[in-house]
Amino acid sequence: MFSADYHLHTSFSIDSEAPMEAVILSAISKGLDEIAFTDHVDYDMKYYPVPDYDSYIPVFNELREKYKDKINIVLGIEIGLENKWADKINDITVSYPFDFIIGSSHCVLTKDLYFDRDEFFGGRTKEDAYTVYFEELYKNIQTCRDFNVYGHIDYISRYGIYEDNSLIYKEYAELIDKCLISIIEKGKGIEINTSGFRYGINGTYPSMDILKRYKELGGEIITVGSDSHKVEDVADHIDHAYDMMKEAGFKYVSIFRNRKPQFIKL
Ligand SMILES: [Zn+2]
Ligand SMILES: [Zn+2]
Repeated sequence: MFSADYHLHTSFSIDSEAPMEAVILSAISKGLDEIAFTDHVDYDMKYYPVPDYDSYIPVFNELREKYKDKINIVLGIEIGLENKWADKINDITVSYPFDFIIGSSHCVLTKDLYFDRDEFFGGRTKEDAYTVYFEELYKNIQTCRDFNVYGHIDYISRYGIYEDNSLIYKEYAELIDKCLISIIEKGKGIEINTSGFRYGINGTYPSMDILKRYKELGGEIITVGSDSHKVEDVADHIDHAYDMMKEAGFKYVSIFRNRKPQFIKL
């Protein structure tokens, strides 16, 4: 069965030390057919410099060529979406030959949900914080043009400071539906991100209820990613995510060429 990991970080991301070649070798040893490198660009995260693509792309091209008989490798990016940075975001996503773009909300109203968690969550009830998150996410979908899938769409539940951070779809159904419908209408998709298994929620971002709702609303474009920052986490729980996709009724997983989806039968 075809399997791809479409969310991988390397030492070109400030929060990873994984050498690109070691990630490729790990992916091959785990039997993957295809991978996408999606290193970070986040304009609001002061700690995250933009990778130097002029040195990144030659390294990438050389390794892609070296391993082309063993695995398909595509050039991706995980860009932090924020409507206040839309112009810069819309600029970089067309400045390099990316095949695939994950748009993620790591910062909301200029606050990083991890590094500035006290500032963002402090003084807000859980309901306020989660509502603001999805309202901003909706705005990002309108202003940031070029992403292909929204990354870990319920990321807000990773770093909350509440007794129970879990996100129950029903409690935010109207807002989440509004986001999913807009994603679908704009020809974009979502990902199943398996990093939750390493962040203590013992599950994926998003959870099954949001995944099923996305399908119910007509969503077809979907990718799977481990969000690995370490060589050993490549393909982590990927099989689980493929099973979830099937259970939710999806018939195809998406891969990307030149930022256009192709559909591979599950
Ligand atoms: Zn992310
Ligand atoms: Zn990531």
